[in-house]
Amino acid sequence: MTLTEKILAKASGRNRVAAGDNVWVNADILLTHDVCGPGSIGVFKREFGQNAKVWDPMKIVIIPDHYIFTADRLSNRNVDVLREFAKEQGLSYFYDVIDDPEGHWAFNVARGQLRRQHGSRYQGVCHAALPQRGHTRPGEVLFGTDSHTCMAGAFGEFATGIGNTDAGFILGTGKLLIKVPETMRFYLEAELPKGVMAKDVILNVIGDIGFDGATYRAMQWEGPGASALDMDDRMTIANMAIEAGGKNGIFPADKKTFAYVDERTRANGTKSAYEPAELDRDQIFAFDKVYDLSKLEPTVAMHPNPGNRALAKTLEYVRLDRAYIGSCTGGKTSDFVAFAEVVNGKRVQIETYGVPATSEVVSDLKQARLGETSVWDVLIDAGVMMTENASCAACLGGPQDTFGRLNAPLTCISATNRNFPGRMGSKESKVYLASPYTVAASALTGHVTDPREFLS
Ligand code: SF4
Repeated sequence: MTLTEKILAKASGRNRVAAGDNVWVNADILLTHDVCGPGSIGVFKREFGQNAKVWDPMKIVIIPDHYIFTADRLSNRNVDVLREFAKEQGLSYFYDVIDDPEGHWAFNVARGQLRRQHGSRYQGVCHAALPQRGHTRPGEVLFGTDSHTCMAGAFGEFATGIGNTDAGFILGTGKLLIKVPETMRFYLEAELPKGVMAKDVILNVIGDIGFDGATYRAMQWEGPGASALDMDDRMTIANMAIEAGGKNGIFPADKKTFAYVDERTRANGTKSAYEPAELDRDQIFAFDKVYDLSKLEPTVAMHPNPGNRALAKTLEYVRLDRAYIGSCTGGKTSDFVAFAEVVNGKRVQIETYGVPATSEVVSDLKQARLGETSVWDVLIDAGVMMTENASCAACLGGPQDTFGRLNAPLTCISATNRNFPGRMGSKESKVYLASPYTVAASALTGHVTDPREFLS
């Protein structure tokens, strides 16, 4: 069996499953956030009763992250709905925006977007916060009301996005009916050359197979090149499985995975036991391809979809209005450090927004140094508008006052994961997806730029 089949077999109490089987699967974790949480809670209450109790309060993780730092009152209200539900159900893992359990969230416009406005438990983007807070474990099943839930496949688990109706059902029962997906294997040889990042790997692959090339399939990453990637890189790649239509992305768990998970579960007091799925010899794949990482070059997904691939060096004619670094895919500490390496001692030539994925990333960047200067200050000195309010921000457009939102027909290069029309705001805007290195180099020149010229 493939990794996905092995995990789904175990979670459904069977010895074996095969692609196409329909099985009832037990959830280890249900994740939701401020956009889909209130709707999922509504389904749960409608179907199971106003006074119903969730199936397991220790297995539900609620992380508000999407429309947080906005004056939009309905968005603010969604956070209050989550708080009321967490209190009513006795949920341990609700990462509130504010510290007062009796309070109400209201974004203060007068204090602006840049300075911290949240309480001590607030995390930021759910997919980045989930592993940091010790909720990802090899061999488990994670369902989340967000399509990029697949990012947790980096930790050797089955992780996939679901809708509010399914989430409402899981809240009541802890189960979901799943068709076992076929598996596509991507076997990575060698290591990434200088200037090329994990983002370039996934943009290359989606460029090969198309933005629907993995529809309802597992994308399994193997080989020495996969083992050489660190956990942040694996997260970047697993995150974008959905940009090829994938059901999930998955890496075999190894000693890097165990070290990360063990440290995070211990630090956060979350469940520390897990049983990883081992790689079998007798795997059946619907697709199997070898990629030599040493041959890859900085890559861009052009407007209007993540499969519209071109090499950065061929797009120098594309003039840019804005650069953006952030999101679950591109807002991790290592992403900002890479960006800072390129812009260190220079000034960006276009409006450049920086949104750390989590509050832990904010604190990492203030502590990490490039020479004598903190990474945070390197970015500020280069002219990047950095916010301390970690969130999804403009990755998903959001309300009109969202930090970094494309409110006009602008052309933007972005370290995020999705560029369908209107994704970051205006439907007339154009978004080019790229690695943090490429976004940084392009911010320095004002046009799409191969970052290797700044890294040699
Ligand atoms: S950062 Fe973007 S892709 Fe990630 S969860 Fe938020 S909106 Fe979705």
